[in-house]
Amino acid sequence: MERRTLLKALSVSGFVALGSGSVLRQLNLTKQLPESFGMGAAQGQWAAVNLQHGMEDILPTELSQALTQVHQEAVEKTTGTERADAQTRSRYFESVFDDDYFLAEEKRPIMRSAYQRLDRMQSFVGHGNFNLVSFDDAIRYARNYSEIGQFPQEELDFLEELYFTDAQVYGFHGEKVMTQLTASLPEQEVTRVPGTGHLLFRGKSEDFYHQLREAVGEDLVLTSGIRSMVKQMHLFLAKAEQSAGNMSKASRSLAPPGYSYHAVGDFDVGKVGFGYRNFSDDFAETDVYKRLQDLGFVKIRYTSDNNFGVRYEPWHIQVI
Ligand SMILES: [Zn+2]
Repeated sequence: MERRTLLKALSVSGFVALGSGSVLRQLNLTKQLPESFGMGAAQGQWAAVNLQHGMEDILPTELSQALTQVHQEAVEKTTGTERADAQTRSRYFESVFDDDYFLAEEKRPIMRSAYQRLDRMQSFVGHGNFNLVSFDDAIRYARNYSEIGQFPQEELDFLEELYFTDAQVYGFHGEKVMTQLTASLPEQEVTRVPGTGHLLFRGKSEDFYHQLREAVGEDLVLTSGIRSMVKQMHLFLAKAEQSAGNMSKASRSLAPPGYSYHAVGDFDVGKVGFGYRNFSDDFAETDVYKRLQDLGFVKIRYTSDNNFGVRYEPWHIQVI
């Protein structure tokens, strides 16, 4: 495999599910990662143990070497500055930085069980409907259906704390767009977009989506629309779980609950048939993206040089 292709593959979130903890442990073991960057050895080992046991054994050597190169590039970028700047963090969003914010270890089991409960809820109500589930709805569903199971108080406290935490502590610099934990999305303001399983707000968002489809062609498809507080919690916790409790790393790929513009009108688009690569840098290479750019009026929320501390998201259309 070409090194270039390999490096590109690293930016695809699917790979990262292998567990960056194991990768980092490898890097720690080979002592190619200076102490000033990334997890400390103890932290790395803790993460590796907690994440995807044994995956390091099946990491191909060239993949590991390519990763080392990626991390070393990041190290060079951060040398001389005590803290990496927002753009460096955005670019190396899957790396672990010294001052990343980790969830306290004793809260990890609570986070995991809350995430699993939300996951069961999503299966129970269906992916489309889950996008509209408010915090109060979630409590009600959990209480009424044994398939989901009632939230213990500690999980509710955890989710509340997650919402009320100022995301600046993670290094996320976006604005809080949902000002109420219990905000709900009225059904009559929402439309289901046929064939996508996603929803959009009637009016500005829906009109803009149809305008884009008309201009770009039927190759353009909605890949994520409205997301309620609970949907965003589920997505964010999935990433936080995958990141071994590294909330900063999670927030470089996903807005923390309350901070997602998906709750107020932004949406994601992709190219039909492009699958998960619609959520990678590869989307920016597609004809769909190029045609979007040629229109001249389409704004991308998280550009490659954004100061939000968020990765480049060429698929995320700014509506609001
Ligand atoms: Zn998005």
